[in-house]
Amino acid sequence: MRYDVLTLFPEMFTGVLGSSILKKAEEKQLVSFNIVDFRTYSEDKHNRVDDYPYGGGGGMVLTPQPIFDAIGDLTKVHSSLKKRIILLCPQGERYTQKKAEELAEFDQLIFICGHYEGYDERIREHLVTDEISIGDYVLTGGELGAMVIIDSVTRLLTGVLGNETSAVTDSFSTGLLEYPHYTRPVDFRGFKVPEVLLSGHHKNINEWRHREAIKRTFQRRPDLLEKRQLSQLEKEWLENFKDKC
Ligand code: SAM
Repeated sequence: MRYDVLTLFPEMFTGVLGSSILKKAEEKQLVSFNIVDFRTYSEDKHNRVDDYPYGGGGGMVLTPQPIFDAIGDLTKVHSSLKKRIILLCPQGERYTQKKAEELAEFDQLIFICGHYEGYDERIREHLVTDEISIGDYVLTGGELGAMVIIDSVTRLLTGVLGNETSAVTDSFSTGLLEYPHYTRPVDFRGFKVPEVLLSGHHKNINEWRHREAIKRTFQRRPDLLEKRQLSQLEKEWLENFKDKC
């Protein structure tokens, strides 16, 4: 996977891309990062990338020229890669694990990180393939959003996580929130680990985890259960939880 990020603040990426799983993924050559300061593409004599909005009003708007030219370069050089061009924006499609899974199928993801009041509308209309919001709140810029997407997509790529099963059972991947985890000690200040997890009986452990995942999802995100085709067993567990509420 090749990631290209168009930003006015390249230094923001150093810590996140240079740490932990993302750093290891780059070292293993499973991903590559190319952070582009799109100001370097500006044809303005003062290297400006923004201007006042037509029609008046507050805030500055990112001009189309530097962003179109930067994307033009990136897509020309890597024309054979299966790619998406993603505009980070609070008005976009809300980001989900399903979208991360969809994006993980591509070879190149190009991100455009906005700032100020927003973008010239022609960028949105004529350049991008996806507009993504990472939630219903407004950030100062798109950089944090790009990092969220890069992180969540990278951990889905084959070979990135040491234990391949961990991404499979993560919350949302199964359509459910993940079951609770415990580690040593068995008894921490009187709070005990559930017996079944100490039993070594894998069938019972798996069933407990499955039931706990259903319970947790019912308690915290019942909207996820509405979208799920429940098995007979899951329906029985659910009725049981409802009776106890
Ligand atoms: N005026 C814009 C509006 O109301 O839609 C908000 C602009 S915001 C201050 C500046 C930039 O931050 C946006 O262009 C976008 O790149 C990024 N941004 C802000 N909130 C975001 C969100 N929830 N998801 C993704 N990107 C966001």
